[in-house]
Amino acid sequence: MKDRMTIEPIQNWFPEIERPLIISGPCSAETEEQLISTCQQLAATGEVDVLRAGIWKPRTRPNNFEGVGSIGLKWLQKAKELTGLRTAVEVANIKHVYEALKHGVDILWIGARTTVNPFSVQEIADALQGVDATVLVKNPINADLELWIGAIERIHKAGVRKIGAIHRGFSKYGESKFRNAPQWQIPIELKRRLPEIAMICDPSHICGNREMLAEISQEAMDLNFDGLMIESHRTPDQALSDAKQQVTPDRLAEITKGLVLRKDKA
Ligand code: PEP
Ligand code: MN
Repeated sequence: MKDRMTIEPIQNWFPEIERPLIISGPCSAETEEQLISTCQQLAATGEVDVLRAGIWKPRTRPNNFEGVGSIGLKWLQKAKELTGLRTAVEVANIKHVYEALKHGVDILWIGARTTVNPFSVQEIADALQGVDATVLVKNPINADLELWIGAIERIHKAGVRKIGAIHRGFSKYGESKFRNAPQWQIPIELKRRLPEIAMICDPSHICGNREMLAEISQEAMDLNFDGLMIESHRTPDQALSDAKQQVTPDRLAEITKGLVLRKDKA
């Protein structure tokens, strides 16, 4: 028989923060200036709870920008001090976990390309043994619910209780409207199997463009998701990764202010 998971509800993670939890920041930390100014603009909107930044970037092909590495954690820590907001970073191995925790990162997330690999997830889980961490697990790039649950179970077995899931859509071959198809039935089924788990939607990697972000964010709210992770950049067109889907902090605030929440509809 499988162990029943005891997951801490998101309401208890950061009691002062209201739902939906809004996580935003650049796909990648690029320079100190870019990261700090983007984070300060986000903080000024009053719409953001957690600042995200990719430090080590898992690029599909080589010879692309692969992230600034650990130096970016110093910039993010500075952004945290300046804004008073929490921070989130993607980790893919033991070194990333240690470095992120050393720099006061509040939320670690496991990326879609890491969730597919049980060796990597186990390495991260082992590094988290005995640590009071908060971990979000993105769905694997392929539409495999068991693999997603398996990664969550590995992190849970290490003793982590503040665990959430991020729905970022599923990869497929060929052209389509979405960069990664939402296939909403998969996160819905995950929530049915693990009712306590926090569900965050990442419309940026689902859409792959700016135009559909508001619609997908609203769809996630209608499905009672607990939060959103949306990529933002002070000058999105100049971003070194995922330029097409990033929005300015002002546009981010427009999207979040425009959301109709279930409690308002009732
Ligand atoms: C990201 O969040 O920038 C990222 C690389 O996402 P994913 O793992 O969903 O592709
Ligand atoms: Mn990205």
